[in-house]
Amino acid sequence: MTSFSDLGLIEPLLRALTAEGYAAPTPIQVQAIPPLLLGRDMLGIAQTGTGKTAAFALPILQRLAANRIKAAPRCPRVLVLSPTRELAVQIAEGFSTYGKHLGFKRAVIYGGVGQGPQVSAMNAGPDILVATPGRLLDLMNQRHVNLQHVEVLVLDEADRMLDMGFIRDVKVVVSKIGAARQTLMFSATMPEAVMSLAKGILKDYERIEVTPPSTTVERIEQRVMFVARDDKRRLLTELLSDKSVTRALVFTRTKHAANRVAEQLIKSGVSADAIHGNKSQNARQRSLSDFKAGKARVLVATDIAARGIDVDGISHVINYELPVDPGSYVHRIGRTARAGACGAAISFCDADEVDDLRAIERNMRQTITVDTTHAFHAAHIATRSERSGSSRPSGRPNGGQRPPQGNRNGRGGRGGSGGGGGRPWENRSRAA
Ligand code: AMP
Repeated sequence: MTSFSDLGLIEPLLRALTAEGYAAPTPIQVQAIPPLLLGRDMLGIAQTGTGKTAAFALPILQRLAANRIKAAPRCPRVLVLSPTRELAVQIAEGFSTYGKHLGFKRAVIYGGVGQGPQVSAMNAGPDILVATPGRLLDLMNQRHVNLQHVEVLVLDEADRMLDMGFIRDVKVVVSKIGAARQTLMFSATMPEAVMSLAKGILKDYERIEVTPPSTTVERIEQRVMFVARDDKRRLLTELLSDKSVTRALVFTRTKHAANRVAEQLIKSGVSADAIHGNKSQNARQRSLSDFKAGKARVLVATDIAARGIDVDGISHVINYELPVDPGSYVHRIGRTARAGACGAAISFCDADEVDDLRAIERNMRQTITVDTTHAFHAAHIATRSERSGSSRPSGRPNGGQRPPQGNRNGRGGRGGSGGGGGRPWENRSRAA
């Protein structure tokens, strides 16, 4: 099995990885690190949860260390663009963790908070800047950020960046960076718009593809529960009475619903919090760290707020309301089963959501097993769904602790490194 030192990483990085308990590189790290150390451009098709951050942060840190130049105030050497604040913070934390023995300065720029501390961080001459596009442009226009000396540019979650309408901002930002740079672009999906952006900004690039969403999805036990809208609250409480639901991310469509569900849970004695776009950045960060620390067992989120949430050990994703956009389903459930673990995704479907369920199944080219064994099973909705050609009933006796057959191993074994069982990072020892 390939080790981190086989990949040519230097000792200060290896030491940091050992301290993190990373036993071996993940498939994306095996593929990405050697060409990135050589300075190649890269197009990476990968989701978060694959070890993507370390795959780009480690070689970037090593290249910075090989050529130590003091970054001038406001002139970072590395720029990472991220679609969301949460992801930006997490990426910066990754650089900090992996680079802790190298002593590079970092800055993080995102909107929704005062710009003062970000301006000060830029004046201190950070080597690495992680930013969301909107606020970055703002600070560039005010001359607090100068991208002329950027040597490495990373676009993370490019598909989301485009989904969120950042394409123009991204193009303006990229146009301010000299051509003599290394450019990396990562995206979970590769729609036409992402491909055309890649062609415009990458040169002679290495293309790597790991763990397509379906492979992660294969490790998630998916179930749908037909339930009348008015019974959803009680069904959720019932599910949460099961102690095996150790850390649950619950999705609603609206901010209002997120608040309401969190409040109801708290009333029924479950430690819960809500995260959505109406909350201040500080409040969102606090909710997230409480959830990470286990102070809140349940986090209720809207799709936008959940983008970029990277919390290990989410045992269950519960779709209290199905997403309107079928693509969001895969992004939602991908929050569980991180880094090789297994997880469960339970979706509530009321009478008005049957069509959404069908759209999700079509999008995934997979039917979701119906769980009929809960106390609030709404047979009439199930019948309607069957008539419309949707999910098949499971007939499982116990509420189904097992994924549908063929789901877990069906398409495993992607050429060597990306294979199904025995993921190299499954044995990671974890402090918390
Ligand atoms: P990412 O895809 O960057 O969001 O990473 C997903 C999770 O995997 C993070 O919690 C990382 O700390 C963890 N991780 C990344 N690389 C490894 C590795 N080689 N071994 C174990 N865990 C890892």
